[in-house]
Amino acid sequence: MNVLLTGGCGYIGSHVAVVLMAAGHHVAIVDNLSNSHQGVVDRISEIAGRSPAFHRGDVADVKLVRDVIREHSVDSVIHLAGFKSVGESVQWPLKYYQNNVCGALGLLEAMEAESVAHLVFSSSATIYGDPRYLPVDESHPQHVINAYGRSKLHIEDMLRDVCVSRPSLGAVCLRYFNPVGAHSSGLIGDRPRGIPNNLMPYVVQVASGELERLKVFGDDYPTPDGTGVRDYIHVMDLAEGHVAALDYLSSNSGWHAFNLGTGRGYSVLEMIRAFEAQSGRSIPFEITGRRQGDVACSYADIRSAAQGLNWRATRSLEDMCASAWGFQSRLAGG
Ligand code: NAD
Ligand code: UDP
Repeated sequence: MNVLLTGGCGYIGSHVAVVLMAAGHHVAIVDNLSNSHQGVVDRISEIAGRSPAFHRGDVADVKLVRDVIREHSVDSVIHLAGFKSVGESVQWPLKYYQNNVCGALGLLEAMEAESVAHLVFSSSATIYGDPRYLPVDESHPQHVINAYGRSKLHIEDMLRDVCVSRPSLGAVCLRYFNPVGAHSSGLIGDRPRGIPNNLMPYVVQVASGELERLKVFGDDYPTPDGTGVRDYIHVMDLAEGHVAALDYLSSNSGWHAFNLGTGRGYSVLEMIRAFEAQSGRSIPFEITGRRQGDVACSYADIRSAAQGLNWRATRSLEDMCASAWGFQSRLAGG
């Protein structure tokens, strides 16, 4: 297939590009590099053995996206471009609606004008809010508490409407749980700008000595060791889920949503221990108060993805930690 991959220079997008190319697809990336670097394209090429097409630009630019679709005879789109920081979205909600919602709108207009009928969208488990039951399945009530989550929900809803109006269209919303880890080459991985918000990149930078110690946000949750529990999924498993979603769209139209997780949760302390074992480094930490907006425990019901997409995560927690450390070590080595 000829795939337009938006946000393909980012953490998840670069892994999706590699997996798509390994599966024989032609990949054209559109990324405005607002949170990434063009050097990632070279790294993708090094891993894949051939280069994806790269167009620097914004997904809200309908003309640019239409031109890319025509130039590459695009038949499917994987849409990952967007902002992703919960904290920033609370401070700057309009920035999030502008970039995420208007970006998706521009993309959808371009797809409609060029009659592209397949879309895979990067949604998030954050739309479920505080789980009312576990594991969280796709029909769990939706309860967003910040502009980031609401931007994801708006886009999911927009896609529902567009699918009703264009019955030939197929859209799959993939609700990611907690992607971590990196490609085994160590060439691509998660390297957020500034101080990381997420657990794994923070832990990695403590291990490397760039940050002094981890703050563990609360040890008084109703979980086995009191720290928050999440469903961490290897980014390569997650990337393969996108290829499975594309395959699904070749024989299914309409709107669909699937969780991408492993179905099991690990606590913050379990993550620290697993990372220490894989890296051979110790992770100094202190327990602090809870982080506002955090939930105690979240993990996915994965049956729907297993049945519908014929996909399930296979990589271990050890692999998640070892590959994240491998990426950091390769970065440090230049
Ligand atoms: P990332 O910031 O590393 O990658 C996003 C990429 O999109 C970046 O390369 C950025 O430059 C680009 N971009 C942003 N806005 C753009 C625009 N308007 N036009 C063109 N390019 C644009 O983030 P990521 O972790 O790879 O996440 C990818 C997607 O997955 C995001 O939409 C995010 O909300 C979603 N998601 C991520 C997580 C996570 O934990 N990483 C969890 C759930 C959902
Ligand atoms: N966490 C933590 N210290 C950090 C970052 C995160 O203790 O510096 C905890 C957080 O409270 C949650 C888990 O690690 O229980 C995962 O947090 P992350 O931000 O990675 O993902 P999300 O909250 O989006 O699920």
